[in-house]
Amino acid sequence: MNETFPVLGFDIGGTKIAVCLALSDGTILASARVDNRDRDPKDVLPELVAAGKKLLAEQNIQPGALKALGIGSPSPMDWKAGMIQAPHNMPRWKDVPIRDYLAKEFGVPGFFDNDANAAGLAEWLFGAGQGVDDMIYLTMSTGIGGGIITSGRMLRGRNNYAGEVGHMVIDPTGPVCNCGQKGDYEAFCGGLAIAQRLRKQLADQPDSAIVKAAGGNAEAIDMRALEIAVREGDAFAVSVWDEMMERNAQAMGALMNIFNPSVIALGTIAVHCGDLFMKPLMERITKYSWPQMQCDIVPSKLGSKAGEYSGIAVALYSLYERGEWTLPWSK
Ligand SMILES: [Zn+2]
Repeated sequence: MNETFPVLGFDIGGTKIAVCLALSDGTILASARVDNRDRDPKDVLPELVAAGKKLLAEQNIQPGALKALGIGSPSPMDWKAGMIQAPHNMPRWKDVPIRDYLAKEFGVPGFFDNDANAAGLAEWLFGAGQGVDDMIYLTMSTGIGGGIITSGRMLRGRNNYAGEVGHMVIDPTGPVCNCGQKGDYEAFCGGLAIAQRLRKQLADQPDSAIVKAAGGNAEAIDMRALEIAVREGDAFAVSVWDEMMERNAQAMGALMNIFNPSVIALGTIAVHCGDLFMKPLMERITKYSWPQMQCDIVPSKLGSKAGEYSGIAVALYSLYERGEWTLPWSK
């Protein structure tokens, strides 16, 4: 039996940090945002504390009633030490011991995880994965990150690197990934990888539907511009989309055959594009997985709220691992 208690969550991003106060039953009480664009952690960290304390005060929650806090952060990180290690979009955050800093300031246990795992836990506890023991969450944004829950536990691996689904090589003759590998899943299907490829390919093609959708500037091409051109029926855009969906089906089919998850929940692009993404995926997935796998592949249920829930979910899952909280559906 769970008693309901408040927890604080921090979702660290390169432009902003979401601070969220919630109850352990998943009720979001209040949230705030702290600017983190090109800022020094020395300035940002005290603001996180102030924002969290303000949320507690506004909700009339005594600091002593807070049970735990959780943090979701971009990689690389030292998971055991609770340290952020200069993610590419936050170069000033070099070896910042954020977990212990916040835990000390709030006087509660602090827990820490990478953003894909954190979003996966959020989707498991409060979104499309509720009630199942096996699910996979894929971020499907600029990059492809994965959070794998198997037999009711977050899969971590030797160094907490498990779930780097985006860097699974699916065709060694494929494009080079930002990580240096050739032909990995993210190189084929990551939003940034596709946009970078299109910007190069279409640099001198102002009449391209994709360039037009990007406001006439090839350098501004993003996944939204591609989506618009696909919806217009532009042949080249459709061929790019089809290839992307084939590779998505290939990668997800492999995950289904390895992990036999009940649910694969998909973030960002699947949420934004709906059927344009889900339909071709479902048509192709049978080529790459067995029918016995019986997996529900769905867009994320939390959608844009995933960030609010992610730090909360890290805190609650960590309490669950310590035997101090039970899963909402196992009451
Ligand atoms: Zn890679």
